[in-house]
Amino acid sequence: MENSKDRGNIQVAPEEIALQYKYMNDIKEINASDETNYGRKKKVFLQSFGCQMNENDSERLLGMLSEMGYIEANKAEDSDVVIFNTCCVRENAEEKVYGHLGALKKQKTDNPDKIIAVCGCMMQQGEVVDHIRKKYRHVDIVFGTHNLHKFPELLYRTINTKSTVIDVMESAGSIAEGMPIERKDAIKAWVTVMYGCNNFCSYCIVPYVRGRERSRNIDDIVNEITVLGQQNYKEITLLGQNVNSYGKDLGNEISFAKLIREINHIEGIERIRFMTSHPKDLSEELILAMRDCDKVCEHLHLPIQAGSTRILNDMNRKYSKENYIELVSKIREEIPDIALTTDIIVGYPGETEEDFEHTLDVLKKVRFDFAYTFLYSKRTGTPAAKSSEQVSDEVKKQRFEKLLEVQNKISKEINDKLLGKVEEVLVEGLSKNSIWNYTGRTRANKIVNFKGSKELVGRLINVKITGTQTWSLEGEIY
Ligand code: SF4
Repeated sequence: MENSKDRGNIQVAPEEIALQYKYMNDIKEINASDETNYGRKKKVFLQSFGCQMNENDSERLLGMLSEMGYIEANKAEDSDVVIFNTCCVRENAEEKVYGHLGALKKQKTDNPDKIIAVCGCMMQQGEVVDHIRKKYRHVDIVFGTHNLHKFPELLYRTINTKSTVIDVMESAGSIAEGMPIERKDAIKAWVTVMYGCNNFCSYCIVPYVRGRERSRNIDDIVNEITVLGQQNYKEITLLGQNVNSYGKDLGNEISFAKLIREINHIEGIERIRFMTSHPKDLSEELILAMRDCDKVCEHLHLPIQAGSTRILNDMNRKYSKENYIELVSKIREEIPDIALTTDIIVGYPGETEEDFEHTLDVLKKVRFDFAYTFLYSKRTGTPAAKSSEQVSDEVKKQRFEKLLEVQNKISKEINDKLLGKVEEVLVEGLSKNSIWNYTGRTRANKIVNFKGSKELVGRLINVKITGTQTWSLEGEIY
């Protein structure tokens, strides 16, 4: 198996990045000439599936497309280029992508110049690429997660040859710095600090499709966030499949704790968040850095996945129920008011009633602010999918309901304690709730709805909590 320490951080050569800018420029010229001929700008429809890292990759694709002169459209029908940035963590997301691709066949027949591209995690699986090649012959470009920066070149080849371009790198690629990005939000930004995962949890496909851990250089990250601060971004979320491993492959005494201490000095940025943290790698050094850095929010997403040590062993998580509870106590000793959220898989193969009781026990002992709960579903290619001890759907659903009942009660009780308190809220925009017309988040990442005005968007304000729900709060400007 490839070892990240052997490989280190390999960056895409500046000449390669310059070449991609040349392709972007060439396409921009083609599009400018088409605009003159047809009287409209070229449009792109991009749909992203899956996690925030995929969303961040989509922002990079949109950055490249904007550089090439494309504008974003809301519908595939209206677009000259259609892209699906796929996820393979859940099978139903894969089915959706195939459904969308099938629906585009007629559009491609009616307009052969429409370019259809698929990229992302699904494309890192050979059988998926073969399936698309055979069944969805109207797809023009297929590329994976490791060569996203080469999209301008692939698009240029398709435009010029009118033939299908398939370019999927099997092993983890180098890190591409300096490519354009178009962010979806003007207040909060995602910043990927590392790619890949070394953990091979038995239910998870990510290490197979995203490769081994590769950390970005600290200077590149700090420079990116410095620019975000200058552009009036207030909050950044550092992203990685396992951010606590940041720097281990750089081999020069860099750690995630040191990274956040550096970022804490950056002017303009008011809040720092990060995800995802693996409990086995959450060091004391990081807990102290979180305590000391005033911009690091008092919220930690710390997936436990299951409460039973036997199941955790089977999942290859490398911590026990007791280790996890002890870790939470250490965190709370240093940061008493921290909000904790978690991920839980219900009905992992071989999970007994007794195992499930351990999960409920952890919920009651830790008292998470919120838990993202998932019914276990088989992921082809992972060890857990081959287990003969699959739990029936009926049992999974029963346990799921029970888990929600326990967790929702805890979430509401925690929120009730905030009644009458004044919280710092970063105002994000209009609320989906018609009564409370503006919305924002506290440092603990809780949604607060309140009556406000447009000028407050992007500002930190104080809000007195006047009402509580299980998943949100209500308040008035204080
Ligand atoms: S830590 Fe485990 S669950 Fe998370 S991405 Fe890596 S293998 Fe998947």
